[in-house]
Amino acid sequence: MDKKTLLKFKNLLLEKRKSALEEHDVLKSIINGTGDEETDFSRYSSHLADDSSDSSSREEAFYHLSRENTYIQKIDEALEAIEQGTYGRCRVCGQEISEERLMAVPTTSICVPCKTKQEKNKKSSSEEPGS
Ligand SMILES: [Zn+2]
Repeated sequence: MDKKTLLKFKNLLLEKRKSALEEHDVLKSIINGTGDEETDFSRYSSHLADDSSDSSSREEAFYHLSRENTYIQKIDEALEAIEQGTYGRCRVCGQEISEERLMAVPTTSICVPCKTKQEKNKKSSSEEPGS
């Protein structure tokens, strides 16, 4: 992969990292109850609002937060790989991953054939959140 393409992916990853961190903060404030809307909401919730829907939205926030953490970690790994010059290579077979696939899932470190093989071995959807 040439430097120009590498830079393109680096910027893409940094952009994704920024919005993921913003989302991360929003989710955290929902969970902590420090978000503006949430604070207002909880102030009146005992009288007006449905408590069960409140708690389930927090549960949802927890779920999204853990996914967000995993995602940010993957972005960091991809950025690290760019620094090390290993970005865009499959960690299993060592072949270059197609640019189309990297555009679709810039955090990936595995090519399509290897991923397909892996998915046959273990049924897990945690490999690529957001795909
Ligand atoms: Zn591979």
